[in-house]
Amino acid sequence: MQKLEGIAVSPGVAIAEALVLDQEGFRIPQRFIARDEVESELTRLDAAVDAAGDEIARNRDAITIELGEHYGGIFQAHLRMLRDPRLRGEVEQLVRERRYAPEYAVSRTLRRYAKVFRSLDATFVAQRVSDIFDIEKRLLRHLLGQRREEISKLTSPVIILGHDLTPSETANLDRDFVLGFGTEIGGPGSHTAIVAEGLQIPAVVGIGPFLTDVSGGDVVIIDGDLGWIIIEPDEETLARYRHEAEEHRSLAERLAPLADVAGETVDGTRVQLFGNIEFPVEIDRCTAVGADGVGLYRTEFLYLGAETEPTEDVHYDAYARVVRTMGDRPVCIRTLDLGADKMEHLPRPDDERNPVLGLRSIRLSLRNLSLFRVQLRAVLRASVLGNVKLMFPLISTLMELRQAKMLLAEVMEDLEESGIEFNRDIPVGIMVEVPSVVMLMDRFIEEVDFLSIGTNDLVQYTLAVDRGNKDVANLYTAADPAVLRQIDTVIKASAIGSVPVSLCGQMGANPLYTMLLLGLGLRQFSVPPGMLLELKKAVRSVSIEQCEAVARHAMTLENSRQIKIYLKEELRRLVPELVP
Ligand code: PEP
Ligand code: MG
Repeated sequence: MQKLEGIAVSPGVAIAEALVLDQEGFRIPQRFIARDEVESELTRLDAAVDAAGDEIARNRDAITIELGEHYGGIFQAHLRMLRDPRLRGEVEQLVRERRYAPEYAVSRTLRRYAKVFRSLDATFVAQRVSDIFDIEKRLLRHLLGQRREEISKLTSPVIILGHDLTPSETANLDRDFVLGFGTEIGGPGSHTAIVAEGLQIPAVVGIGPFLTDVSGGDVVIIDGDLGWIIIEPDEETLARYRHEAEEHRSLAERLAPLADVAGETVDGTRVQLFGNIEFPVEIDRCTAVGADGVGLYRTEFLYLGAETEPTEDVHYDAYARVVRTMGDRPVCIRTLDLGADKMEHLPRPDDERNPVLGLRSIRLSLRNLSLFRVQLRAVLRASVLGNVKLMFPLISTLMELRQAKMLLAEVMEDLEESGIEFNRDIPVGIMVEVPSVVMLMDRFIEEVDFLSIGTNDLVQYTLAVDRGNKDVANLYTAADPAVLRQIDTVIKASAIGSVPVSLCGQMGANPLYTMLLLGLGLRQFSVPPGMLLELKKAVRSVSIEQCEAVARHAMTLENSRQIKIYLKEELRRLVPELVP
């Protein structure tokens, strides 16, 4: 049994066999062969070894000419390892005796070697691990050729383990078979994490290098509450986690009836609970939990994974489905928030060294007006189908807001000229994600119909901590007093200006913060639908007076650690069922 710690990003417990991805995101197939296939499969293995050997020898010769014997020697060492009779013998044994397909046998054997190397302390020995993976990659390429498989064709439950998953790969995971996932890199606020939570797949990211320690088929536990991944658990651990998974299921069952009652504190204060969605299909999850509407529709996911740029009709159809399903409940459509981590497959400017501070989100839209117009036209056309609001992301200056509104007015004129219907009074709001907006709240409040606090980015920009980087994940927390003061400022300004404010970052989905936020005056939350009933449970268990007392005390505390400890004590006291 091996227990590894990472960052918990999507709650729940999953137990299943591992499906390990190689460095390039392809699955390493776990295939078995028939008895009469053994000889032909071994011939295929030898052909792959020969082809990989030829390739390495060519590299060795080219590098030796270019850089000299010393560098060529690296490839010579690979060649020796590849042709080592002992390696061949072990692989053959797995093929003959266990009927593993050669690719599965190669991967298991080399990963066992890598594990031995990694357990040795000497750096130069540990470095051989990457050589082993290089050999594995080459052999798998030759063995699988065009048959390399992506992770879409699954037939049994698995836990996906890989170096990284992009937000769109995560979004495309087969919910019927992928029970959880763990990755070596990634941070607490990454979009991969957000998508996992949206899909309700328990996930742990930022585990650090561990793929050498696991092979496809190993039993793995993902503890998405505490951030553990456990490889080949012992019986006792397995039993404990089976019990925990059962507890999760029974909590979900107990919360299910809350879908039909309103979000209301014990003293009768109405609290609106909206859903965050990334894809139109998620709208059914919102209705299933009785969401008051959609508080954040992240439309950039229309672009992720798309081969071509979405047309106006593609936008419209997606929005129309969501808006029609919601009837008269509000749907807040956020314009394109592409950039940084979400843009991995799009061309990036060469000098974008710091993409989180670069050309992303509203800045990107304002630089690509034709693209922005297409989206605004579609939103306006959908605005007559229900209760649609329009929201601009990552606003950092008043000028940006005014430019965006000016373009909206232009698009309205165009639609009017063409006789296309739309709601001229569509409410227009902004995400509050950048401290500059908080500082100028009194001015922004004059020019918007509503506000939505995006704590995922607000934490990142307040504390100068990359939300997607595991190495600084300990600093990334919404409980920091600097973040809390900003939230307080925004809520107070919204009350003064009578401009509604909601909070749509992940913070709002964590019951730890519910009392604090209610105590600061927040009355609208927008959260992943999978978290909505827990939040409603918290809301319905407390009074505003209790929450105000909690907020008053929390705001006197000095650091995030003290604040979290205090909030957890209070949650345990008032809503014990929600404390794992
Ligand atoms: C946020 O920043 O809090 C937010 C909700 O937007 P996103 O996570 O899409 O950046
Ligand atoms: Mg954001």
